[in-house]
Amino acid sequence: MRNFILLGAPGSGKGTQSDHLVKAFGFTHISTGDIIRDNILQKTPLGILCQQYSEQGKLVPDDIMIQMVKNHLQTVTGDLIWDGFPRTIVQAEKLDQLLHKLNSKVDHTLYFEIDETKLVARITGRLTCPTCGQTYHKTAVPPKVAGVCDDDQTPLVQRKDDSEEKIKIRLAAYHADTAPLIEYYLHQQVLTVIDADMEGPAVWDQIMEVLK
Ligand code: AMP
Repeated sequence: MRNFILLGAPGSGKGTQSDHLVKAFGFTHISTGDIIRDNILQKTPLGILCQQYSEQGKLVPDDIMIQMVKNHLQTVTGDLIWDGFPRTIVQAEKLDQLLHKLNSKVDHTLYFEIDETKLVARITGRLTCPTCGQTYHKTAVPPKVAGVCDDDQTPLVQRKDDSEEKIKIRLAAYHADTAPLIEYYLHQQVLTVIDADMEGPAVWDQIMEVLK
C-alpha cells in the first residue's frame, strides 16, 4: 500500500487531480470531505456530529476525524490518494502512526501551491454532484447539460460551504492549521511543490513527473 497526500488550500484542484489519478492508475481516493458530506446526507451519528463544523467552514475536531479515518482505513485496499486529510499536525502524526502499524508510510506529498486571489472565483463558481462528488465550474468547466451531472444526471448543487463568507473561514483554518504541514512533510523529505496556478494538463504533467 502506497500513500500519496494531496495538500493545498480549498479550491486548489486536489479533488480534480484525485479523480484523474483514480481513472489513470486505479488508486483508491480517500476524501474526508466527501466522507463527511455522505454521512451528513445519510444523517448518520457521525454526520450529525460533523455537520455544524463542516457547513460553517470550520475544521471538524481531530478526535472525530481520526476515528473516522481509522474506520475508513479498514475498508480500503490498494494505493491511496489522501485528499483533505491530514489537515492538522495532530492528524499528520496520527496518520504516520496508523500507517506504521500497517507496515506502510506516507510515500509522497504533493503540495498544490496556488495564488489565493484565484480561489474565491474558483470556489464560488463550483457546482458539485451530490451523488458522485464530481465537480464542475459554472463558466470554466460547465457540465454538458446545464445544471446536471454528466456521469449520473443528478441535479448539481452549490456546497453550503462554497459561499464567499464561508471561504474566508475555510482559508483562515487552512492558514492556521493546515499550512504548517508543508514544513512537516518538507522535514520528512517527502514533499514536492506543484504549481497549481496552471490550467488543465500542465498540473497533471507535473504530477506525472513526481510519480514516474
Ligand atoms: P473538503 O471537501 O476537503 O473541502 O472538506 C469540507 C469540510 O469537511 C471542511 O471544511 C471541514 O469542515 C471538513 N473536513 C474535511 N476533512 C477534514 C479534516 N481532515 N479535518 C477536519 N475537518 C475536515
